[in-house]
Parts: sequence; C-alpha cells; structure tokens
Amino acid sequence: MPKEIIIPEPNQSLKFIDVHCHLPFQRPKNDQLPSDKEQYLNFFKMGGQYLITSTIDIQTLNITLDFMKKYNKNFGFTCGWAPQTVTYTPKDKYNAEWKIWMNFIQENSERYLGIGEIGLDFHHARSLEKRTKQVEVLRQIFELTKDLDKSYILHVRNAAEHEFDRAHPKHRFNKRDGVNKEILNILKEYKIEPQRVMWHCFSGPEDYGSILSNQGFILSVPSSAYGFNRWRRVTKSTPLESLVTETDSYYQHPYKRGPINIPSNVRYSIAAIAYSHNVNQKLVSEKTIENAIRFFNLKIE
Ligand SMILES: [Zn+2]
Repeated sequence: MPKEIIIPEPNQSLKFIDVHCHLPFQRPKNDQLPSDKEQYLNFFKMGGQYLITSTIDIQTLNITLDFMKKYNKNFGFTCGWAPQTVTYTPKDKYNAEWKIWMNFIQENSERYLGIGEIGLDFHHARSLEKRTKQVEVLRQIFELTKDLDKSYILHVRNAAEHEFDRAHPKHRFNKRDGVNKEILNILKEYKIEPQRVMWHCFSGPEDYGSILSNQGFILSVPSSAYGFNRWRRVTKSTPLESLVTETDSYYQHPYKRGPINIPSNVRYSIAAIAYSHNVNQKLVSEKTIENAIRFFNLKIE
C-alpha cells in the first residue's frame, strides 16, 4: 500500500498573491461561503498582497465592475471570454453579448490586467463542431487583441480518454495533448510571445510542465495541488521562476471536492509547491509574488 502523503500546512505568516479567482460571483443555490466583501477583506488580513479575479462573460464582467466601484485596492481583473461561454451560451444571446465584449476589450484596455480566461475546453465541447467553434472564436480573440500589448490567461483542458469524439476517432483534437498543441500553433500564428501568456490552473500532461516553461510561458498552480497529487505532479519539474499561484475559487478547494473555495486558500498553492520542489514556503512565496508582479505589471499600494 502506498504511504499517505502528508504535506505541511501553510505557515501563518506567508504573503501571497492569488492570480486567478472568481470573486464576486453569481451565488449557486445553498451557497455556504462568506460574502464577497468578507472574502476580499479576509484575503488581505491573512497576508494577501494582490488579488486578481477573472471574468468569463458579460454577466461576470458587469458584477465585477460593480464590485470594483467599492473595492479596488490591490484588486484587479482579467477580462475573459471563456470557452464554456462559447459552448453554452444560447445563440440569440451569444451574438449580442460577443459584440459588447469585443467593444469593451478594445475601448477599455486600461481597466483590466490581462485578457482571459480564454482558451479551449474539450471536456465541455465534445463534438467536432463545438470544438471547431471554440478554435474559431479563440482566433478571433487573438486577431482582435494581439496589438493591445496585454497578457493572456489561458484556460486549457484536453479531452480525457472517455471524452473522445467518437464520430471522428482519428482527429488530432482527441489526443491527450490535442488542446495544448492546437493552442501552441495558434499562438505562433499570431506571433504572441510566450512571456505574455499564463496557463491558468495548469493540468498537464506532465511533460508540458518543462516544455512550456522552457519556452518562457508562466504556469499557475491551483490551491487544489495541495490535496491532489495529480495537480502537484504536473509542475514538479517546472522551475520556480515560471510559477504563480491561484485558487480558481469558488471552485477547486485545496483538499475537498466541490465549489467551496476562497481566495485566501492560495496559501495552500505555496505549501504544495514548497513540497514538490523541496524548498521552504517563504522562498516560494517570495518568488511567486515576484513573478506575478512582473507578469501582470502590478502596482501594489
Ligand atoms: Zn477560472
């Protein structure tokens, strides 16, 4: 029987940055989490230096802009059009909101820190038609924004084995790294330098942990890496210089299943990296803060 892995808890005195969460958010039914305001205040009380939230569509953009009227100190957002938005938005609604988004992103580049999350998700898009649509929209986004001099935050999810598109079994999108490869090709085509691109909640495959960092990409480690070996393993060989930390809250709790996470749990990402890289948590905290400041060009007050 394999021994149970015990990873030390995060130190109480750590400083940290959460580069990707969803706060404020549309509350699910029977939501048990503290209010948006409480989560925001708690983050800084616990040692947070900067908090970055990510919008995924027009609804989340609007609630974020509203929240920021009151709470904006050391808080910023990345403006996204998530692949799930592409796949799940009803057609009539989609075209109107896409236009609003395109307009916002071009006219307000001083208001957001980066573009994302954007990307491809072949877990949520299983037919070739839906996958092709996501690719098409991703290209449009790069075409529209490549000269804005903004960083990109990628959501990348390869198809798992049981999610293969059975109607097109030999298609390259079915490969274990089909999405990674497609995205790398598109980035090359639009001449987006890797230094401008962060892979949010990086999930592998494992060999890409060093392939991507060697090319200059930044990889973000979720707080769930603390409790789930699979998440920890994929960045084990990524140098600290290429890592930042996130919660993706309210999704991805450090060690429980379900959407019950909060931004101050990003301390668990630090504990996970310290464990996988066999270095102390303070060093990981310093490095990941430095990397996040550099990547997003943050001004901490
Ligand atoms: Zn997210």
